[in-house]
This record gives sequence, structure tokens and C-alpha cells, in this order.
Amino acid sequence: MSAPEPLFDAAEAGIVPVPAARRTVPLYERQADKIRAGLHPLSGVGERPERIPLAPAGTGTCGTCAHKARPHHHRRAYPKCDVGAVRVPDGAGYREVWPRCAHSEATDLRSGWPACRDYEPRDGAA
Ligand code: SF4
Repeated sequence: MSAPEPLFDAAEAGIVPVPAARRTVPLYERQADKIRAGLHPLSGVGERPERIPLAPAGTGTCGTCAHKARPHHHRRAYPKCDVGAVRVPDGAGYREVWPRCAHSEATDLRSGWPACRDYEPRDGAA
């Protein structure tokens, strides 16, 4: 089936075509692309984005890692990675800095993700 004939010459009428909308790649597809490229899905996201290589295959998963934490925010717990987390004085007390976290689903850990180079087995984990 061929495209229909235009009714008039848009350029001659001074009409500029609207560019096609860019396709938004879903979060899980972007994360899968990173894994295929040898990077952990937390690469390039979080408070201090960095390149995070995967550990050798078979090392473990985020679900069995000692760094998987569940900090609370507004009475809900979110699975986050606590690597590099520190408390820094802010004048009125302390502020927590979690470099691999943000208030975003993009930094929520999935238990099945392959381990990164900072993996440490949780007590009792294989
Ligand atoms: S495997 Fe890496 S990203 Fe996952 S929880 Fe452990 S340290 Fe964090």
C-alpha cells in the first residue's frame, strides 16, 4: 500500500513539517542494554553518576549483596545500593549522601540484577 498523495505542496504554502516524536525507551530496556554492554544498571544514574562494571559472571546478584539496603522515605522502604554512603555535617546535624541513589525508580535495585564490582556477599548468602 503506497502513501496517499498530498493534497497540496506544504513547502510552497510555508508549512514546516513537525519532527516525528522521539521514541522513549522504557527504563527496563535501558537497564537491559547496560547489562548487555557489561555495565550495571546503576551506571550513569544516582546522585554521583559513575560507570559501574559488572562483576564476573556467577558472582551473585544484588539480592544477595550486603550493600542492598532499604532506606525509608515517606513511610515507604525502597531497595537501594548503599555503596559509598556517608553522613556529612550540614550545620544543623547530618545529611546522608548515597552516591548511587536518587529519588527515582531508576535507582531502585532489582534483586535479580547481576552483581557489580563492589559486590559483597550478605551473611548467609551463597
Ligand atoms: S551488587 Fe553492586 S549494585 Fe548491587 S547491591 Fe551490591 S554493591 Fe550495590
